Amino acid sequence: MSLTALFKDKTVFSLEVFPPKKDSPKEAILPTLQQLQAINPDFISVTLGAGGSTHSSGTVQITDLIQNQLNIPAVAHVPGLYQTKEQVLNLLDHLAENNVKNILALRGDRIPGKEPAGVFNHANELISFVHEKRPDFSIASACYPDCHAEAASFVDDIAHLRQKVDAGADHLISQLFFDNQSFYDFKEKTEIAGIHVPIEAGIMPCTNKKQIERIASITGVPLPKKFVAILDRYADSKEAMRDAGIAFAVDQIIDLVSEGVDGIHLYTMNRADIAERIWDATKSVFAAANSKKQQRASSH
Ligand code: FAD
Repeated sequence: MSLTALFKDKTVFSLEVFPPKKDSPKEAILPTLQQLQAINPDFISVTLGAGGSTHSSGTVQITDLIQNQLNIPAVAHVPGLYQTKEQVLNLLDHLAENNVKNILALRGDRIPGKEPAGVFNHANELISFVHEKRPDFSIASACYPDCHAEAASFVDDIAHLRQKVDAGADHLISQLFFDNQSFYDFKEKTEIAGIHVPIEAGIMPCTNKKQIERIASITGVPLPKKFVAILDRYADSKEAMRDAGIAFAVDQIIDLVSEGVDGIHLYTMNRADIAERIWDATKSVFAAANSKKQQRASSH
């Protein structure tokens, strides 16, 4: 089933995980996935380092576990910058063998000192290629409520996003953000640009000050005052930081669902315990929003 069909009558709740380190067995992630299964997410996506095909087997194996052992739709991230056409087709073949037919098509982050393959310089090129060669795949793509760090302007970034949708992306997943107003302003820009595919809001619970500051410096995502106060106040207390981080994420999610967001994509950082707590605190809100959506759909 195409993932876009999910958005018709519900507010989607999806999760992201990353494969265990290179030398660890891929099955090491199974207990985490089983704990996440209890949440009954609409799909789980699995990251893939931009670096190269050598690590893609981890992502293929984990999407296989998710799709075929847990019976949850799986999405494989596919960064194209360092890949050839043959490598991409090969990866898609492996995914399809396991009945995984959903990808998140990305450019990928540049690796200092590594020469790109020169084939898929931007995500729209990868999307066009997959759309043409493998129309059986459903293609999601990334978007940036605070603008992509390398974009010349927000107007340019939105124009490039429109190119990705025109090329065949049928659903968008946003970069993490900590100020919901950024997301609402971004949504308005996409509507003006004629982008009408579902957009999931990417939420990352903050449980570690250093990690968040590193991510913010790489992505350029601004940290609002209220959020910095939490980081500064609780950095030295693991428990307090975890609880405050969860509360902040829950607050963001409740506001987004109340405002009618298409879906929430939770960056779990493989912390199933935290994902579970967030789901426990918000599942009634999703249920109420979904029953309203279904009532509206049936009355039309
Ligand atoms: P693009 O859409 O190519 O955009 C990159 C920049 O180029 C933007 O500034 C854009 O405005 C500009 N641009 C876009 N198209 C054009 C064009 N045709 N001509 C000129 N300029 C253009 N990275 C990984 O390596 N592995 C992952 O698993 C992964 N998962 C991610 C999941 C999500 C939800 C998100 C939001 C990001 C993820 N990333 C991942 C990071 C992502 O690879 C980086 O953010 C990367 O810098 C941009 O990827 P993109 O697909 O958005 O690129």
